[in-house]
Amino acid sequence: MDFKKTYILKSNELKEKKVFRDAVHDYIHVNHLIIWQLINSEQMQRLRRIKQLGGTYQVFPTSEHSRFTHSLGVYEVIRKMLEVECLKTTLSDYDKLCVMCAALLHDIGHGPFSHSFEYVFHNNHEEMTIRMILEDSEIHQILSHLYFDLPKDVASIISKTHSNSLLIQMVSSQLDGDRMDYLLRDSYMSGTTYGHFDMSRLLRTMRVYNGKIVFKESGVHAIENYILARYHMYWQVYYHPVSRSYEHLLGCIFLRVKDLYIHHYSFKTNIHYLLPFFKEDISVADYTNLDESVLEYYFREFINEDDEILSDLSYRFLNRHLFKYCELIDENHFKHIKDTASNHGFDPRYYIFTDTQKQVPYKHYHITGELSEIEVLTDKGLKPLPQVSEIVDAIVKSDRYKEDHKVFFPKEIRDEI
Ligand code: ZN
Repeated sequence: MDFKKTYILKSNELKEKKVFRDAVHDYIHVNHLIIWQLINSEQMQRLRRIKQLGGTYQVFPTSEHSRFTHSLGVYEVIRKMLEVECLKTTLSDYDKLCVMCAALLHDIGHGPFSHSFEYVFHNNHEEMTIRMILEDSEIHQILSHLYFDLPKDVASIISKTHSNSLLIQMVSSQLDGDRMDYLLRDSYMSGTTYGHFDMSRLLRTMRVYNGKIVFKESGVHAIENYILARYHMYWQVYYHPVSRSYEHLLGCIFLRVKDLYIHHYSFKTNIHYLLPFFKEDISVADYTNLDESVLEYYFREFINEDDEILSDLSYRFLNRHLFKYCELIDENHFKHIKDTASNHGFDPRYYIFTDTQKQVPYKHYHITGELSEIEVLTDKGLKPLPQVSEIVDAIVKSDRYKEDHKVFFPKEIRDEI
C-alpha cells in the first residue's frame, strides 16, 4: 500500500487542539500532533533565542521578535492557504502534511546574528536547514517516526526540488507564506506601517491553474500593495544604514576572534561553543548549541580580553557605539578613509567597511531568468502580472534599480572624512 496516497491527515489530529495568541494573525492554530511535537523540539525552541531582524532593533527598538514567532507565523499562513478551496481539493493529505512541516521548519538552520556570522564563518543557513531535517536531530526523529520518507519530502520543499511545484510556490516564491508573514510581522514589530497589505484578500483571490498558484484579476490591487509594501520595508527597515553599521561591527568582532584563534592567541574566555566553527567542521549538535544568548555572553567576556581590538569592538557593540557612515564616492575616497583610520591607530581590517545594497522591486523572469513570475487569471487566459498591472509594468520597464553604497568608520575620525 502506498503510504503517501492513502495517508489521512485526520489520523494525526490532536484531541485537544492548541492555539498561540499572535500579534499578527490573532491566533496560530495547531491541529496536528506532529506540528505540536516539532514546535517543542530543541531545534525550534532554539529559534526563540535568535532575533528575526538581527541588528534592526538598534534602530527600531521594538523589533526584538524571534525567528520562532516568524516560523509559527509562516506555518499559520500556509495552514490558512490550505483552507482555500482550490488548494484544499487539489492537494493530497500527505502533501498538506509535508507543506505545513516545511513552513514551520523553513528557517530552522539560521544561526545567531545570521548575516555577519555567516560571512565570517562561511556557513550557509539554507544548507544547515536541510542538514537539520535530514541528519540526526530531534526534528528528524519526529518526522521519520511518522513516515521514513517524511524528512526527505519536507526538505525537498525547502530546497525547491520537490516534484510538486505547487508546494514549493506556497513556501517560497515572489508571493509566498514566508514573505507574507515577515512583511506583516516585521512591520508590526518595528512600529512602521510600510509592510502592511491585505493578506486575506490575497488568499481569497488565490487559485490553482495548470498545477500553479495564480491570482484572480480582482486581486491585482492587493498584489500591487504587497509589492510596494515589500519595496518600502527593504529601504525603510531592512537596509537601514544604522542596522548595517551594527551588522558590520558584529562582523568585525567575529573576524577578530577568528584571526586571533588562527594566530594561537590564548583566550581568557572559554569559547568552546565557537571552536567547531573555526574548524569549519560543524555537526548539527554544534549548531543547535549556538544561539545569540551564548554569543552575547561571549561579547561581555571579550571586554576583559587582553587583545585591545577585541575588547574595544565588544565594548562598542554592547554599548551601541556604532560606526558612522557616509556615501562611498570612489576608490580614492575609500583610500583616504582607510589612511585616516590608520593614522588614528585603527586597523582598517577591523574598523573600515563598505557595503552596497540593491533591491529589485519586482523580479520579471525575462530579467532574472527565474520562473517566479506572479501570474493573473484573466478572461483572456493566464497573464504575467506586469501585463495586468500598470504599476508593476512601470517598475519592470524602469532600469533605475535603487542602489546604495556606503562606507562605515569609527566616529572618532568623522571630522576628517
Ligand atoms: Zn522565513
